[in-house]
Amino acid sequence: MKAVIVERPLEIRIADVPKPEIQNNADVLIRVLCGSICGSDIGIYRGTNALATYPRIIGHEYGGVVEEIGAGVANLSVGDVVAVDPVRACGHCYACSVGRPNVCKSVEVTGVHRDGGFAEYVVAPASAAYRIDTARVDKGLISLVEPYSIGAQVNHRADIHAGDRVLVMGAGPIGVSITQVAKSRGAEVLITDIFDSRLDRAKSMGADVTVNVSTGDLDREIDRFTGGEGMPVVVDSVCSTASFEQSVAVASQAGRVVTLGLLSRPSQIAMVELTKKELDVRGSRLNNHRFPEVILGFEDGSLTPAGMLTSAFRFSEVEKAIARLLEHPELECKVALRFD
Ligand code: MN
Ligand code: ZN
Repeated sequence: MKAVIVERPLEIRIADVPKPEIQNNADVLIRVLCGSICGSDIGIYRGTNALATYPRIIGHEYGGVVEEIGAGVANLSVGDVVAVDPVRACGHCYACSVGRPNVCKSVEVTGVHRDGGFAEYVVAPASAAYRIDTARVDKGLISLVEPYSIGAQVNHRADIHAGDRVLVMGAGPIGVSITQVAKSRGAEVLITDIFDSRLDRAKSMGADVTVNVSTGDLDREIDRFTGGEGMPVVVDSVCSTASFEQSVAVASQAGRVVTLGLLSRPSQIAMVELTKKELDVRGSRLNNHRFPEVILGFEDGSLTPAGMLTSAFRFSEVEKAIARLLEHPELECKVALRFD
């Protein structure tokens, strides 16, 4: 079969590799239908993802059709269309024991630490493959369950509920997915970016207020949005040293701040800023069994991912797809790869 392999940084190719086989009776064999490209795939390609090892079949946003099932698989049947959760955990460390396998001390992500989904076939544990009703969800959207699971995880970590006013910094795919999940929970969302085109998309996908921070006055807009209280919930999907500092600065008294970034450079935040507001600052990483709720949202229409897909390429054109994303961050949101 063919697979997208990053041999080493900056060297990506379509390779012929052995078709994977079911190894144990809890596995399923999936014929991949589509994938979507994430910033972390590009980080592996460029050599800036410190967690990646090479050579690697990349891709953690993908889905397909179940073609074979192991003898012990009861939750899936041949022909089911599934999205695959890329998080793999040890099951017995402290984090796993308290129900948080997404931060398992030896967590691995398929497509990063292990081979991933940008291939014609994948074998995955049936417990990580979630069925989607294709009568209600376009098959071309199934790879977007994973990025929405990031948005759902942020909403859990930020404890977003009806009536909350939420600032989402950054209107890329993650910012948009956070926004849509927050809207589905009844929150109001102010989203920022430096490109009007991305803000227009975020607005069409549900954001209540948009602010272009390169031309507008964010502090004034926050005052207007919150009646001068400051933001009760801030999510930083820009993930720079400055955006983390700003998240803390614009949070209200008794507010919550959620970070997603993996930057190792420190931000400058004085302890008094956290103490005087009694802020909850929380990290949010990957997703903790959020696929079922995201799929439910896709199926019942409370989440509408179609607006996120801006281009599609055959998987054999993966280099072109990556170049397109890098050259036009203002126009592209998610770029799909087709495998069928
Ligand atoms: Mn991703
Ligand atoms: Zn663990």
